[in-house]
Amino acid sequence: MVGDVPVGGDAPITVQSMTVTKTADHDATLQQIYALAAAGADIVRCTCNEPEAAEGLARIVPRSPVPIVADIHHQYRRALEALEAGVHCLRLNPGNIKNPEHIRTVAREALDRNVPIRIGVNGGSLHPDLYKKYGDKVTPEAMVESALQEIAYFDEVGFDLIKISVKASSVPLMIEAYRQLAEVTDHPLHLGVTEAGPPPIGTLKATAGMATLLAEGIGDTIRYSLTADPVEEARAGRQLLETLGLRERKNIDLIACPSCGRAEVDVFTIAQDAMRAFGERKIPLQVAVMGCVVNGPGEARDADLGIAAGNKRGHLFVKGQNVMVVAEDEMVDTLVEWAEFIHEHGADAALARAGATKDAAKRAADEDRDRNLGERGDDANHAEEVIAQIRRGG
Ligand code: SF4
Repeated sequence: MVGDVPVGGDAPITVQSMTVTKTADHDATLQQIYALAAAGADIVRCTCNEPEAAEGLARIVPRSPVPIVADIHHQYRRALEALEAGVHCLRLNPGNIKNPEHIRTVAREALDRNVPIRIGVNGGSLHPDLYKKYGDKVTPEAMVESALQEIAYFDEVGFDLIKISVKASSVPLMIEAYRQLAEVTDHPLHLGVTEAGPPPIGTLKATAGMATLLAEGIGDTIRYSLTADPVEEARAGRQLLETLGLRERKNIDLIACPSCGRAEVDVFTIAQDAMRAFGERKIPLQVAVMGCVVNGPGEARDADLGIAAGNKRGHLFVKGQNVMVVAEDEMVDTLVEWAEFIHEHGADAALARAGATKDAAKRAADEDRDRNLGERGDDANHAEEVIAQIRRGG
């Protein structure tokens, strides 16, 4: 347990993030913690790098909506102060606290308070001896050995409330390190690609590493380490788990076609506008934005709700059935309004609400479909024209 959040075993995989404020500035830090929790963070880490930070934690912990982990580097005294402040978990970097007696002292104190510790091995700050032992480079074996050494110190004082991470900025390296670690320990694992960088590449790297491991059943908590507003991290973490079906959906799942020569609307803009309009609304439905009525309703028939563009108008469909025709500039507002209705009353009630307009909506969709096929034919991307051009020699 990290506070009241279970970690490991059959517990749901949890999302972590870290504040970027000065922990000593407890009001600013709490504000950020609330924003992170609203975006999907289950657990939040704050640095405890100075005595003032520990004092800040003493004010933050009782007012935080989620459990707090204190991040400790170099000075074991900060760990003792953070425990005194009432934090729900510590994170220690074995590469940075080198004196075994200091590690044992912290473990003894954590044991007395029943507070778990994450052993946070980081490829970039591996203990110099291990670095040397493995040929002056960071290897998965070296990272796993670093974690096991730390566990051994904890074992000496009977402490086993342990969670482990072996993060690296190289995705193949971290994947291999976690795989090896999962072979040799049953402790819960916290996943992350460290220093992943700014989005979108940072998000992509972190997703590649964490999703690979999660799909193999490895990992109990995750963190996106992005060079961005940490709210982005929490949101990405939540979305990854929802996408993999590892957490129940809280927000909208917006699907949209990639657009093509058949599109009758600017799908990119409408999809972005819809994302913005749904924002953080807690509507756990799948909503489709499709560029044409020829293929849209069929391809998105499994969505709870969708809209497909026709001749300057949008065809709204619920569970694949046409329910309404709206002007193009009302497509997004209509989607949001119907999504709220379905969320509250269910899809059957929405179909009943459409009532007699369903037949007219279906006829209008068929008309636009036939018109599109008539105008653009089967070759909406003009492939035949392009091929003829190629044959003519460009
Ligand atoms: S055929 Fe229609 S739904 Fe499919 S990608 Fe093209 S515009 Fe979108």
